[in-house]
Amino acid sequence: MAQDDKFKKLVSHCKEYGFIFQSSEVYDGLSAVYDYGPYGVELKNNIKKYWWDSMVQMHENIVGIDAAIFMHPKTWKASGHVDAFSDPLVDNKGSNKRYRADQLIEGYMDKIEGKINKEITKAKKRFGDAFDEAEFRKTNGRVLANLEKFEAVRLRLAAAMTNEDMADLKAMLQEYKINCPVSGSNDWTDVRMFNLMFYTQLGNVAGEEGKLYLRPETAQGIFVNFLNVQKTTRQKLPFGIAQIGKAFRNEIVARQFIFRMREFEQMEMQFFIKPGTQKEWYAYWKEYRLKWHKSLGTPAEKFRFHDHDNLAFYADAAVDIEFEFPFGFKELEGIHSRTNHDLSSHQELSGRKLQYFDPQENESYVPYVVETSIGCDRMFLAMMSHALQDEIVPDAKGKDSTRTVLKLPPALAPNKCAVLPLLKNKEELTSKAREVFDKLKIHFKCQYDEKDAIGRRYRRQDAIGTPYCVTIDFDTLEDNTVTIRDRDTLEQIRVAIDEVADIVSKKVDMKHLLAAF
Ligand code: ATP
Repeated sequence: MAQDDKFKKLVSHCKEYGFIFQSSEVYDGLSAVYDYGPYGVELKNNIKKYWWDSMVQMHENIVGIDAAIFMHPKTWKASGHVDAFSDPLVDNKGSNKRYRADQLIEGYMDKIEGKINKEITKAKKRFGDAFDEAEFRKTNGRVLANLEKFEAVRLRLAAAMTNEDMADLKAMLQEYKINCPVSGSNDWTDVRMFNLMFYTQLGNVAGEEGKLYLRPETAQGIFVNFLNVQKTTRQKLPFGIAQIGKAFRNEIVARQFIFRMREFEQMEMQFFIKPGTQKEWYAYWKEYRLKWHKSLGTPAEKFRFHDHDNLAFYADAAVDIEFEFPFGFKELEGIHSRTNHDLSSHQELSGRKLQYFDPQENESYVPYVVETSIGCDRMFLAMMSHALQDEIVPDAKGKDSTRTVLKLPPALAPNKCAVLPLLKNKEELTSKAREVFDKLKIHFKCQYDEKDAIGRRYRRQDAIGTPYCVTIDFDTLEDNTVTIRDRDTLEQIRVAIDEVADIVSKKVDMKHLLAAF
């Protein structure tokens, strides 16, 4: 299936099966804002729990907080968001469509990369096992020319972004003939910076004084609470503070479903360390976070690291963990070495000391920070896009048929188990099934379903990713046994009702994932 079609199918699957709805749909929706439906909220909660447990529960030196969305306006001055949290905006005069100039240029770079990959795929086919990709990249004329072009554009874009050189961004759109995808025109307005923060007004305070921002990241709630947390939990460096919460950004372009939203959720952890140890902790968290992603069973080739080209002025190092979404490799998570920039700025603007007394060194200093920051919604999209598959399987009569199945890791699946009486209108079957359901629901999230033929019910559970279906039939009434059907292997085993909770728990319990760390 073409990547575009795959993405469309994913979006409609999310709606059809109650994972994600457009916000305020009855009023034709609100752009780039989404609501999570009954299965969506379960999956999202499971993602959050897995992140939280592997960061907070599994590290005795990481604790959590839940800070308010509204913060004192000076917070955003100190953090640099008021002055510099902007993206370069450009309008096309032919279509009146608005774009991010840097993303248009990145799209151009993707095209060059596409040409390189095409040459490599062609050569791979031609040379078979004897193909040496590294050598080919170094010697093939067309590949070399495109690599050189790519590098020149990459460096020029990085410089223009770092220096906020809007004129050069516009010049790049013109020189590289990057046209509007809608009108095909190259007639662009000047590029200008657009601040992404939403704001509202505090109570009865008028003007700038009462201007409150909706936080564009959760991190600052952690920084301003650094000493509160350190003192009350008596943590010693290195230690971390984790938080999951909403963030808001007035994104210029938001066309990729929940990949880029205006209201979204972040899972962030700030790790406070002794200055000078940042390289070592940066390497640690880079590897740890990649391991976390791979622990969910997603193949390693779906991820890659991408070092930031234009580092923020205060940053030591920054890398994205990119995931191969249906629209290509894009940022899923960021790992940033932020030096002591945030704490120092808050210290300066608030006039309050934000320092740690190091008993070993017998001195106080402002700690350095390495952060890990992942969007919960992007993680949701990554999980869904990898899990949603069409498969050929034998139907009840042994013939090939296609099933749509959501192969989510069992620990993250919205329902762990569906309880299905073989027939709906046999009271003895339905009441026995209810009895089984009541027993199991204490252990994990279950669903009772009696509507439609059993085959259709299995397919419905496949489509929402339920790892196990328990069927109650006439034999159950005789010997208290049921069948358990495995979503992935389609294998059915017959077991005693009293064994079901144990068998299912062994496969769906999150602790098996955590044990890998
Ligand atoms: P991008 O370059 O894609 O705009 P960013 O570098 O601005 O992302 P960060 O500020 O590092 O993102 O935010 C950390 C994480 O928050 C990102 O890796 C991403 O998963 C998530 N995130 C950021 N912006 C959005 C958004 N508009 N919608 C959904 N998730 C987002």
